[in-house]
Amino acid sequence: MTREQLKNLWLEDFQEPNRVLCYGAGTVARYAIESYLCAGMNVAGFIDRNKKGTVETSRGALPIHTIDGALAAFGKDVSIIVTIESRTVYEQVREDLIAAGFSAGRIFDHTISSWLTVPSPKCWCRDLFTSVRLAHNSIMKCCMWGENRNFSMEPLERGVPYEQALQNCVDKIEHYYERARAGEVPLYCAGCPFLEDRELDGFPKVQTVVFAVSAHCNLECSYCYFTGMRNGQMEEFPYSAARYGELFQSMLRYLREKDMLAPNVHINYAGGEISIHPGRKALLSMAEEPDYECYMFTNCVVYSEEIAQALSGNARNAVMCDLDAGTRESYMLVKGFDYFDQVVENLRKYARRGKVILKYIVLPGMNTSMEDYLGTVRLLKELKLEELILSRDYMLSLDFQEERRVLFEVARLRNVLAENGIRGIIDGIESITGADSFSERQIQIMDRFFRQTPPKGDTT
Ligand code: SF4
Ligand code: SF4
Repeated sequence: MTREQLKNLWLEDFQEPNRVLCYGAGTVARYAIESYLCAGMNVAGFIDRNKKGTVETSRGALPIHTIDGALAAFGKDVSIIVTIESRTVYEQVREDLIAAGFSAGRIFDHTISSWLTVPSPKCWCRDLFTSVRLAHNSIMKCCMWGENRNFSMEPLERGVPYEQALQNCVDKIEHYYERARAGEVPLYCAGCPFLEDRELDGFPKVQTVVFAVSAHCNLECSYCYFTGMRNGQMEEFPYSAARYGELFQSMLRYLREKDMLAPNVHINYAGGEISIHPGRKALLSMAEEPDYECYMFTNCVVYSEEIAQALSGNARNAVMCDLDAGTRESYMLVKGFDYFDQVVENLRKYARRGKVILKYIVLPGMNTSMEDYLGTVRLLKELKLEELILSRDYMLSLDFQEERRVLFEVARLRNVLAENGIRGIIDGIESITGADSFSERQIQIMDRFFRQTPPKGDTT
């Protein structure tokens, strides 16, 4: 489809009385379909060559059809969204569907969902209009909200020039801005709790650019989506680690040339481990430029002189470390390696060079003993830190009981911190990490637990 045709796609074409089928009943489709359903698309089922039966969705089970079965049941003009990421496979599937008798004009690749918009009473979101992130297989808007949202703005594919992907992103940002002025938000954002009712009074500049390529790391955190990916699937990534570093710098240059960057743009190195990244020298040298403010998300297993220099060279920069434990045992359990003492030592060294921020992802049963909490308090005091960011595993779908446990433990840790004069910052209210872990409802429950937990006095 041409750019103009994509810009002129409307959600009504995919809503009742029209019907939509997803081609492919694998993982990508299962993620995508929740966004489609939430946006009000009339998804009637799946087509898959290898799978049979039904797929469970939040709106009930949907049937899987063969190509011929789908044609017989829905006719040639049904809309088909091919939820397979590879462009080559898409072209082949498209040919097969046309040969089977489906209308060529109603077959779409999954990227149409990054052009479609839906009516919304609130159309502003910080991530939507002021951030861009480079991930391993796409340029994204936000990380994720809810269980099945993953706002991938533009896929990155081998063989497709990177400049083209960047130009597509710029076009889409402009498209979202125009649609937001008409009361619509991108399909991925439908119903998102982070939307705000705010006037769009001028084309917003990008304030945060995130390097979120989690391809290389020396830990295996229990909650890391990429721990599994690294064990055997790295060859699936379109670029090498070094190339991602170059692409990130091109992205910044490109946005600057287009005059889309805010004056004091914020850079987050927040994917993979920057201290061991092959392109870290060039990437971190930008951190010393006065135009940038950089947060270096590092696990601190390795002490990097480049990071230390970036800290001392610009007082606005910071090291951001997910500590997630107050004891060696819990650290090993959560992170997969026995590096707790080493990390603590490196944190001490970084704290001597500049700003350090610690975060704690609360994982009930793994890092929620009082020993962990008190160990964390001792370290915070030693580093003279007055705050700790409290977060949760936002990749995990929380059932009612798990949610209760997480919220209770966050409140309990916050209470222990408060008794020791340390502020527990709930990720999501005053988030500086760029990720919003908790919804408003969850924050209210945690606040209630926090107020009602009896004080214990100084616990150190
Ligand atoms: S999905 Fe939510 S957080 Fe992400 S860009 Fe849209 S409104 Fe913002
Ligand atoms: S340190 Fe970060 S990238 Fe590395 S395994 Fe943990 S969460 Fe994943």
